[in-house]
Amino acid sequence: MTARILEGKVFAQAFREDAQKKAAALQEKYGVQPGLAVIIVGSNPASQVYVRNKHKSCEALGIYSEVIEMPETTTKDELIAKIDALNADVKIHGILVQLPLPEQIAAHESEILERIRPEKDVDGFHPVNVGRLVTGEPGLVPCTPFGCLRMLELAGIPIDGQRAVIIGRSNIVGKPMLHLLLGKNATVTICHSHTKDLPAITREADILVAAVGRPKFVTADMVKPGATVIDVGINRIAPKKLVGDVDFESVKEVAGAITPVPGGVGLLTVAMLMENVVRAAEMQLQA
Ligand code: NAP
Repeated sequence: MTARILEGKVFAQAFREDAQKKAAALQEKYGVQPGLAVIIVGSNPASQVYVRNKHKSCEALGIYSEVIEMPETTTKDELIAKIDALNADVKIHGILVQLPLPEQIAAHESEILERIRPEKDVDGFHPVNVGRLVTGEPGLVPCTPFGCLRMLELAGIPIDGQRAVIIGRSNIVGKPMLHLLLGKNATVTICHSHTKDLPAITREADILVAAVGRPKFVTADMVKPGATVIDVGINRIAPKKLVGDVDFESVKEVAGAITPVPGGVGLLTVAMLMENVVRAAEMQLQA
């Protein structure tokens, strides 16, 4: 059996169309264009590419976008003052601070990110939004796991009552994924580097999510025949070669559905950010 390939571009396009429609509806109902501000501190080349992509995506979907470039030498207080100004700016519904931060302020990352008003926290990292996710209240959810959940739903993959196993317990992927799947009535197990006999657990999964950060970590013998395998990993193994956390070639022969890398989950993140900006605007306008 060869698995159904869940192509990221198909789902990302659906999310973008959804965000565009909702942005147009807000414009019509309230005369308001959803707005995103991205702050980039310093000149990290990879960060500059990510920020440009976010800006272009906004422009294509009718979302107002501001990129605020601050010098490498920016202090914590200067960055916080900028966040405060954006918190008060009615044109801006979502604020994102591009990570990583330069060395001199990196140690204050939590304090800086927590300064963003929870209603404008489109990364979904603020403790208030984390709390809302855990308690099942509406809030903003980190883009990558939210994109994975929406992809499963759009692909028609059953979640309710299914066994889901997540490898990885990071705050940006593993833990939010746990709460999203639990919220959809899956029975969820989360594994990490101290987990004993990992393959025995992963073989029970109807839905297996790999967010480990280790190239080709999940092999065919760890996968139940017919399972859906979501590969969140992005590992650069050579200058122009990216692989996921799943050994795609062998696992696709066992799984029922699988996301490729590249071309899978990676494409969902910016599309979900657009959805989060529109959701943030909806929540602020309806409050
Ligand atoms: P992370 O913070 O490094 O977390 C990795 C997790 O994997 C940790 O919980 C760790 O366990 C666990 N782990 C490591 N080795 C293990 C082992 N041998 N057995 C079982 N568990 C093990 O990584 P992350 O930020 O969640 O990212 C994971 C991957 O997703 C990376 O490749 C990253 O580049 C990618 N990613 C992609 C996107 C996207 O847009 N597609 C977004 C975010 C991340 P401990 O907690 O015990 O250390």
